[in-house]
Amino acid sequence: MGDFSLDQLTDLPLDLCIGGKLVPASDGGRFDVLDPATGAVLTTVASASVDDAIAAVDAADAAAAGWVATPPRERSEILRRAFELMTARADEIAHLISLENGKALPDARGETAYAAEFFRWYAEEAVRASGQVMTAPSGANKIVVLQQPVGICVLVTPWNFPAAMATRKIGPALAAGCTVILKPASDTPLTALLMAKILEDAGVPAGVVNVLPARRSGAVVSAMLHDPRVRKLSFTGSTEVGRVLLKEAADQVVNCSMELGGNAPFVVLDDADLDAAVDGAMIAKMRNAGEACTAANRFYVHEAVAADFSQRLGDRMAALRVGPGTADDTEVGPLVNEEAAASVHELVEGAVAAGARVVTGGKRPDREGFYYEPTVLLDVPLGAEILGEEIFGPVAPIITFSDEADAIRMANDTEYGLVSYVYTRDLARGLRVSEQLDSGMVGLNRGLVSDPAAPFGGTKQSGIGREGGHEGMLDYLESKYVAVSW
Ligand code: NAD
Repeated sequence: MGDFSLDQLTDLPLDLCIGGKLVPASDGGRFDVLDPATGAVLTTVASASVDDAIAAVDAADAAAAGWVATPPRERSEILRRAFELMTARADEIAHLISLENGKALPDARGETAYAAEFFRWYAEEAVRASGQVMTAPSGANKIVVLQQPVGICVLVTPWNFPAAMATRKIGPALAAGCTVILKPASDTPLTALLMAKILEDAGVPAGVVNVLPARRSGAVVSAMLHDPRVRKLSFTGSTEVGRVLLKEAADQVVNCSMELGGNAPFVVLDDADLDAAVDGAMIAKMRNAGEACTAANRFYVHEAVAADFSQRLGDRMAALRVGPGTADDTEVGPLVNEEAAASVHELVEGAVAAGARVVTGGKRPDREGFYYEPTVLLDVPLGAEILGEEIFGPVAPIITFSDEADAIRMANDTEYGLVSYVYTRDLARGLRVSEQLDSGMVGLNRGLVSDPAAPFGGTKQSGIGREGGHEGMLDYLESKYVAVSW
C-alpha cells in the first residue's frame, strides 16, 4: 500500500455513531489521536459526553425490538457480510490499526484476520442458539428453557487490539440479538469507528451498534451502567479498571463479563524441544511487541537448558528490526504511548538493580517515538517487581528452576490466571502440568492460544466469563425457564 495516510480512508467516521448517524459531541468536545511512532497528532475525534451516552442508550433501546425480531438467518447474513467487507478491506484496516496503535504491519494484519473471523464464526453461531426441553423428574410437567438476548450491552475495549477486542464482543452480541454501545479506548478510537462503518455497510440497522469514543471514559461508562435499560457490561482491559466497573455495575446488578490482565508464565521443562520452545517464546512474547494480555511475562526454564534457551532467545530478539509500525520491513513497532515506554524501562531498571543480567536490550533506543529495545533478562531474582506486574512490552525475564513442582508453584504464584505456556516433548506430562496450571488457558507446545472458535478467558483476577467459541455467545444470552404442563 506504500505510504499510508488517513486521507486514504475517505469513509472513516470521526464523530460519534449514534442511532445510525454521525454526530458531534453534545458539548462540542473532541480529543487528539496520536501517532505512537512520532508522538504527532494524527487527527481528532468527537469525545462523548454523559448526554451522548444516554442518547446512545436511547438509540440502542429503540433498535432493540426490531433486532431481536430479525430472523437469526438474517442476522447471520449481515455478520457474514461484515466478515467479507473486513476481509476485502484488510489492508486498509491493518494500516489504520498500525497507525493509531503503533504495532508492526504483520501484527496488524494478523489482528485484522483474527478480528474478521469473529464475524464469520458468530455468523455461523447466530442460527444455532438452541434451548432445551425435558421432563421434570417428578413427571408433573415439562421444563422448557429458551435462550433470549440479555438486552442492551455496553462494550468497553482496550487499545492493544482495537479491532479484535471490538469484534469479539460485537459478533456474539449481534448474533444473540442484542443491541450494543461500544466505548473504544481513547488511544485507539479510529479502528472502532471504521468497524461501525463496515457494520453499517454490511446492513446492520441504525441503532444496533453505537460507538462512543470518549476522552473521559469513567463518566460516560458510569452513566450507562446506571441506566436501568442497560443489562450487560462486557469489559476488556486492566484488572484495576475492571474492579471499578464491577462495583459500578453492582448498583443496577448489571450482568458482567470481564477480560482482564494477565501475567503469563512460560515453562520450559528439561525435555522440551528447544527449537519449538524458542519459536513459541518469540510468538508468546513478541506478538504486538509484548502489548498483549496473553504475553509471556515470566519464563521459567529448567537449569539444564536455561543457558541454551536464553542465548537463542537473546539472539532472535536482538535480530528483530525495530521501527515505525507502518514501515514494510518493521518487525517490532513502538509502544502505545510515552507512559508505556517509561513504565517498561522502570521495570527493567528495577530488575537489573535487583541483580538480573541483561542478555540483550535493556534500553529505550535513541530516537523519537515510544520505542523499547527487545530485551532478555537472565537470573531475575524472585520478588523482582517485573515478575509481579504485566510488563506490556518486549521484555523476557528468565528464571531457572530444577524441580518441576517448583516451576508449577512459581507459575501459579500470581493473582492473575489468564494463560500459561508449557513446553515438553512428553504429551502426557504436558497435559498433567496443564491441569495443574491455574489459568483459563494453556498453550501446550504452542505460543499462541487465541482462536475465535475457542473459549478465551481467565481465572482468578484475570476475569469472569469466556469470549469466543460457543461459550462466547452464551455470555449474551439469558436462559428463560418455562414450566409447562402437557
Ligand atoms: P484500561 O483498563 O486502562 O482501559 C480499558 C478500557 O477501559 C478503555 O476503553 C478505557 O478507556 C476504559 N476505561 C479506563 N478507565 C475507565 C473507567 N474508570 N471507567 C470506565 N472505563 C474506563 O486497559 P488498557 O490500558 O486499555 O489495556 C490494557 C489492559 O487490558 C491490560 O491489563 C491487558 O492485560 C488487558 N487486556 C485483557 C485482555 C483479555 O482478553 N483478558 C485482552 C486485551 C487486553
